[in-house]
Amino acid sequence: MNQTIRDYIKTRVRWLFAFGALGWLTFPLSQFLPRYTGDKVGAGLPVLGMLMFLGAIIALNWAIKCPRCRANLSRTIAMTVGLSWGSGPKVNFCPYCAVSLDEPRVKETAPGQQAPFNPIR
Ligand SMILES: [Zn+2]
Repeated sequence: MNQTIRDYIKTRVRWLFAFGALGWLTFPLSQFLPRYTGDKVGAGLPVLGMLMFLGAIIALNWAIKCPRCRANLSRTIAMTVGLSWGSGPKVNFCPYCAVSLDEPRVKETAPGQQAPFNPIR
């Protein structure tokens, strides 16, 4: 697995963003579906959409952590990294532990080699 920390953050942010956008799409769907299927199907859709959107917002605030220091990146760099499409300035490191975002997410250690000790944890 050669996923970089940047790819990991991008994947998480984009999936949660898509999930929240899908929640929003249920609002117009709830207006159109009853015309074709009768009144029963569309009644619960806005509630479901609201729950999906709220779930995505809450997850965007809590579920994106640095794989090295476990600091919450949601309110600092997650949106900038996750929703950048290659233009503009680029975030290159975690603001808490300064690990490069282009390093592999899972640090591979050679057999017999110990993982470095982090005294802060
Ligand atoms: Zn970090």
